[in-house]
Amino acid sequence: MRLVLVGPPGAGKGTQAALLAAQRGIPHISTGDLFREHVTGRTPLGRQAQEYLDAGTLVPDRVTYDMVRARLTESDAQKGFLLDGFPRTVAQADALAELLAAGGQTLDAVIEFDVPDDVVVARLRDRGRPDDTEDVIRNRQQVYRRQTAPLLTHYADILVRIDAVGTVEEIAEWVQEAVTTPA
Ligand code: ADP
Repeated sequence: MRLVLVGPPGAGKGTQAALLAAQRGIPHISTGDLFREHVTGRTPLGRQAQEYLDAGTLVPDRVTYDMVRARLTESDAQKGFLLDGFPRTVAQADALAELLAAGGQTLDAVIEFDVPDDVVVARLRDRGRPDDTEDVIRNRQQVYRRQTAPLLTHYADILVRIDAVGTVEEIAEWVQEAVTTPA
């Protein structure tokens, strides 16, 4: 199964992605996690990405796409994958579609995590990652609305929206339903 999770920062995608990927036996590919690993490891890509992560703006599409493409060509991703945080722009979605099409593949579903702003801000405050300061959170929310939300229209045909307000267990159940009865 090839899935994409979309939702605002703090929607709980990462938590649910890890659960779902484990259940399905497919890799959970989080671009945020990949960038943070590069930053921690002080790789050239990490040095390039750091300023964007710190500011809460998007790492340039080309840099991001090259990293994702490399990850998707690894053997564990051949049986399917769960992308968390990618694509985040329509240009990234187009690049992904082209990459998949070259292998005769398509996405099965895009799951949207629908959650109100106030819930999100509370979750992010509790998480306390370095880019979870008030200014940077606000920036990431704005980036989501401007650059990522257009994906919801772009993927209208395969989009499944889930209500992402609830306990981790409840939301996991709704995610399960969403992937077993795709759009
Ligand atoms: P959140 O969903 O809480 O914003 P992520 O871990 O998904 O957190 O992303 C953290 C940061 O990593 C983003 O603010 C951005 O700088 C960078 N990033 C992650 N995914 C992408 C992407 N697909 N394109 C560009 N930048 C990205």
